Amino acid sequence: MSLPLPVSLSPSKVSSFTDCALAFRFSAIDHLPEPPSVPATRGTLVHAALERLFCLDPADRTHERSLVCLEEAVHELRTEADFVDLALDDDAERAFLADAEVLMEKYFRLEDPTAITPIGIELKLEIELGGVKLRGIIDRLELDADGDLVVTDYKTGRAPGERQEQQRLAGVAFYSLLCEQLFGRRPAKVQLLYLADPVAIISTPTDRSTKGVERKLAAVWAAVERACEREDFRPNPSKLCDWCAFKAYCPSFGGQVALADAYRIDREQARQAAQVPSLV
Ligand code: SF4
Repeated sequence: MSLPLPVSLSPSKVSSFTDCALAFRFSAIDHLPEPPSVPATRGTLVHAALERLFCLDPADRTHERSLVCLEEAVHELRTEADFVDLALDDDAERAFLADAEVLMEKYFRLEDPTAITPIGIELKLEIELGGVKLRGIIDRLELDADGDLVVTDYKTGRAPGERQEQQRLAGVAFYSLLCEQLFGRRPAKVQLLYLADPVAIISTPTDRSTKGVERKLAAVWAAVERACEREDFRPNPSKLCDWCAFKAYCPSFGGQVALADAYRIDREQARQAAQVPSLV
């Protein structure tokens, strides 16, 4: 028996597979639930506030209005499981909101949003390349002063060291490839805005980098296919394990992969039962 293939690849799936094939399997194939975390939910909140900011007329994208956008985004987030399940007490919630405000304030040190011409916010893109479905959500696609495309990705964690920069840029290079395939134009620039530092990491896609992304995606997909066929996704213990939600299933931490199998099979049976009406 082999494992089902994931339906698509995205930048986060590619980096998950590269970091730890077993964690990738638990997330992308078994679909094990992952409890929310404060950093991830704070990231969601800040992205939502920036999305609102860029829906305003350029002249209205001020720091003051960004705090109103944040308030509105908080209001929406309060009923979401990602926030409710954090079960923050009053002090923790105050700290959570204060940190989000600081990130919004630091964003303004990176660029002037009144001078940005967005043409897509939280833009969902999908293509098929070499038989693989590639999907991504671009935080912001804009036009620069020359009318060229620019891909921007906001990050709310800390900026990487020099050695990890290229690895992090791989995600935006993936988005650049999606744009090139869909719009027939290669973006002139891709950038990661690390709000916490605040620092921008910028790169210019080239023929060479684009070919490199295509080669990497083909190699990752071939490795995923092989691993599914052989049911062979291996753990790769590293410092990332500290944040991994799957330790109970991971043999490196005394967990059992069979529990993930059982979860996936139950989920699939429930999905099929919901689709096929009972004849009885
Ligand atoms: S705990 Fe570590 S080794 Fe195990 S699945 Fe998670 S990231 Fe991989």
